[in-house]
Amino acid sequence: MGSAAVSQIGYNVPPMQRRYDLHSHSLASDGTLSPAELVQRAATAGVDVLALTDHDDTGGIAEATQAAARQGICLVPGVEVSVTWGKQTVHVVGLNIDIDYEPLQTGLARSRDYRNWRAEEMGRRLAKHGIEGAYEGAVARAHGRIISRTHFAHFLAENGHAESVRAVFKSFLKPRKPGYVPGDWASLEEALGWINGAGGQAVIAHPARYTMSASKRRKLLGEFVELGGAGLEVVSGSHSRGDNFSMAQLAKNHKLLASAGSDFHGPENPWVELGRLQTLPEGCTAIWEGWQLDDCGQRVAS
Ligand code: AMP
Ligand code: MN
Ligand code: MN
Ligand code: MN
Repeated sequence: MGSAAVSQIGYNVPPMQRRYDLHSHSLASDGTLSPAELVQRAATAGVDVLALTDHDDTGGIAEATQAAARQGICLVPGVEVSVTWGKQTVHVVGLNIDIDYEPLQTGLARSRDYRNWRAEEMGRRLAKHGIEGAYEGAVARAHGRIISRTHFAHFLAENGHAESVRAVFKSFLKPRKPGYVPGDWASLEEALGWINGAGGQAVIAHPARYTMSASKRRKLLGEFVELGGAGLEVVSGSHSRGDNFSMAQLAKNHKLLASAGSDFHGPENPWVELGRLQTLPEGCTAIWEGWQLDDCGQRVAS
């Protein structure tokens, strides 16, 4: 892309015309691009405001912020916190967080400790199932401080245990499968405490992806609002078009702001691209409507 595109991105673009992607991953968690490569790709894709939201880690934010300044786009410091709610795992994205907020970092460090223990346990369970070296294989594929099921999936797929990463999840890494370890993540209250304490806004990630009844989903959103949650990821790269519309309705019912994010993990998955998102359905209030960003994408203190 030539230099002509540069004048059309980032803070040179009037707020109404900005393209937002508020959910993405880098090598700091289970993505496959470095934070700088991710930002570069986002700029090329025409994204004006990108949130880096690695799982339980903000280790990529500094590099992404510097890269965004070079590319002239806005980088929103974020994180995707793993939460255990009842017996389920729910992901809560924190946007515009102050990554130096001590309780947030202490909390995320605890989640990473749990991840490490879980990874060892997954390795033991897979070994009992006849698959040796899975823990070591996952560790070798993790480039940051967290070990994800994605790293196990890549090891298992590359070693012929299933045809694709998706198939590995289905056969080995989902509930009731041999490599699955039930989550013991932060509570919803803790996650919202960390995010709100860090001056951020909490958003329930890919809400249509959770296997739960409609009444359960309403209960989750009720508690989320009660605890100070701000938004719902109405538009997600992992939603169908229909999901986006039903989540828009849900956001309206619960008076939640609407967010939009691709959940991009890397170019290997051709179905998801940075910034390639449906516009928010009518009647939603975009979470970014209340934002004031400075030239580097940091929120201006009000
Ligand atoms: P973890 O947080 O370590 O339990 O891993 C969750 C991650 O695994 C998600 O963020 C996705 O990146 C990935 N994942 C979950 N389910 C699937 C699936 N069915 N196919 C591919 N990737 C998946
Ligand atoms: Mn992931
Ligand atoms: Mn997620
Ligand atoms: Mn994600």
